[in-house]
Amino acid sequence: MEVKTSLLDNMIGVGDMVLLEPLTEDSFIENLRNRFDHNEIYTYIGSVVISMNPYRSLPIFTPEKVEEYRNRNFYELSPHIYALADEAYRSLRDQDKDQCILITGESGAGKTEASKLVMSYVAAVCGKGQEVNKVKEQLLQSNPVLEAFGNAKTVRNDNSSRFGKYMDIEFDFKGDPVGGVISNYLLEKSRVVKQPRGERNFHIFYQLLSGASDDTLRKLKLDRDFSKYNYLSLDSANVNGLDDAANFRTVRNAMQIVGFMEDEVQSVLELVAAVLKLGNIEFKPESRSNGYDESHLKEMCELLGIEQSVLERAFSYRTVEAKLEKVSTTLNVSQAYYARDALAKNLYSRLFSWLVTRINESIKAQSKTRHKVMGVLDIYGFEIFEDNSFEQFIINYCNEKLQQIFIELTLREEQEEYIREDIEWTNIEYFNNAVICDLIENNQNGILAMLDEECLRPGTVTDITFLDKLNTVCAEHQHFESRLSKNSKFLTDHSLPHSCFRIQHYAGKVLYRVEGFMDKNNDLLYRDLSQAMYKANHKLIKQLFPEGNPAKVNLKRPPTAGFQFKHSVGTLMRNLQTKNPNYIRCVKPNDKKAPRIFTDSLVRHQVAYLGLMENVRVRRAGYAYRQAYEPCLERYKMLCKQTWPHWKGPTREGVEVLMADLQVSTEEFAYGNSKIFIRNPRTLFSLEEKRRGCL
Ligand code: ADP
Ligand code: MG
Repeated sequence: MEVKTSLLDNMIGVGDMVLLEPLTEDSFIENLRNRFDHNEIYTYIGSVVISMNPYRSLPIFTPEKVEEYRNRNFYELSPHIYALADEAYRSLRDQDKDQCILITGESGAGKTEASKLVMSYVAAVCGKGQEVNKVKEQLLQSNPVLEAFGNAKTVRNDNSSRFGKYMDIEFDFKGDPVGGVISNYLLEKSRVVKQPRGERNFHIFYQLLSGASDDTLRKLKLDRDFSKYNYLSLDSANVNGLDDAANFRTVRNAMQIVGFMEDEVQSVLELVAAVLKLGNIEFKPESRSNGYDESHLKEMCELLGIEQSVLERAFSYRTVEAKLEKVSTTLNVSQAYYARDALAKNLYSRLFSWLVTRINESIKAQSKTRHKVMGVLDIYGFEIFEDNSFEQFIINYCNEKLQQIFIELTLREEQEEYIREDIEWTNIEYFNNAVICDLIENNQNGILAMLDEECLRPGTVTDITFLDKLNTVCAEHQHFESRLSKNSKFLTDHSLPHSCFRIQHYAGKVLYRVEGFMDKNNDLLYRDLSQAMYKANHKLIKQLFPEGNPAKVNLKRPPTAGFQFKHSVGTLMRNLQTKNPNYIRCVKPNDKKAPRIFTDSLVRHQVAYLGLMENVRVRRAGYAYRQAYEPCLERYKMLCKQTWPHWKGPTREGVEVLMADLQVSTEEFAYGNSKIFIRNPRTLFSLEEKRRGCL
């Protein structure tokens, strides 16, 4: 990275952690705190931006700020997310390099806001004109639509994204936006049927009930009162500062701008209403099909154009089809509830995926010519809770992959620069987390493969038989491996609680509880239900359950959740690998969602699992700094008689004369084709000190 001259002058704390001396976790955190206390929420690690959530609006996102950062060099101004966005955009436009912006951090750290800041910055500085503006507007308005259906109030964040999102923004050769493509990852669908205490269901349910007209609600057979619906938790239905009714109008408007037809919006709302109705269906032990309030079932069927008897039957029996025969078994009450909830979760998550597909149809670039691309990834960061389940396992796996790509790309970038500059490549020691990825994703004996195997195995299989298998195989594997290396990441010790396993992730040890792993991985919907949905006289719902088509009965099992996720992460990684990466690491200063509070222990925890210290180390390995000859000579020429006030020859020679004159040890430097490389931050500081002495 370049030496950022502005980062050395008039700066609160140190603007770039690479320049921090001494570098310890304490000094790192102290620097973050110092800057945060002075409203400096952005700090660099080289070209990586650390972003602290201020939890209040700061006057640093104005059009004037946009102008300030526009077309300026990264190191000229104080750290800002706009500097990163500008650098990425210009490199895309002028050097034709595809970019990706990788945003990570824990829930509530500010990832989604950061992604929107990047998008709005790029929208502000790129081309103008009617067509271009329409594209920009559509791209930006896809956000409120997806947030309504994919975000919810949680304990950690009032507007928490419950899905991972990657968006490719496409540009033409001039750098004008022409479209975009969104991919979504792993919507937290369990939230549809049950929410943890103090949390809500997805925003859209509350928005619809609060914001729709009486007429619309009547058509959807809905009641405005949240408390009428089992799937809506009541203890936190109203959230301070959240105006559901107003947001409903925003979402309707956004859907229109993105290009949804009126009848499509209507269908979507019918499905949302159907989910609420589903949640109110009750099953009684005796005389299954009568003796209880059938109105919800009836209304749901009316909404979706399903014959009531068809749905009733689907909630009463489960049919298993083998090659030659069909066997129906009766569902007991708890199985019926299980089926109901499975249907609600499936319906909603398929609706969400459909929305993404539909948005893509609208926003994707019309022309087939090659586009320049900027990808923005807003994805859940590492999660270490007290109770970690399948979801955390999957999320943490994804973060391992991102860490791996970070290391790979950073080192590759370094190596390429060394080659470009004709500098001898020195190997950088770093922690390679490939072993952890392998432990999880290896096709033969990786944890995901074993989980799939167990899900498919006939006979009595449970979460515990899965765990047993894991313990046997991984322990063996580990035994074998430990003779080769000490890198075993599957931790077995006798202190493990019952039904748990532990993994040493790059970001720390995580204890996973296996309960629910099989079920969540299986993600099965009884065929009777998908067939009932397919029979609906409702275009959208029919489309969402294609496997319910009796003409297309597939006896093969659908791919498991783990398999699908691994597949989509693989695709994502291959995509990212072709792009120039830009990193934003979001940090949450406190867990009160409050401004001005910096909780040391909380920040320390995040610094550890975001791998920020490792980040600085990689950036400082080899040559910590580099700077083009010209600005270097400009800055330090006053330290040497031969170069002051003007150096007549080539700048590189000027710098060589200067360094020789200052008697800096030759091991400290390497002269590249266009830059000087400095090994140690201290060298730079001694230069700075001498310079201050001269001023
Ligand atoms: P994440 O996506 O990481 O879970 P969000 O981006 O949704 O977190 O941020 C959570 C909340 O924090 C936002 O709703 C907003 O209130 C606040 N916030 C985040 N970034 C900023 C910012 N740059 N300025 C002001 N408030 C912010
Ligand atoms: Mg978010």
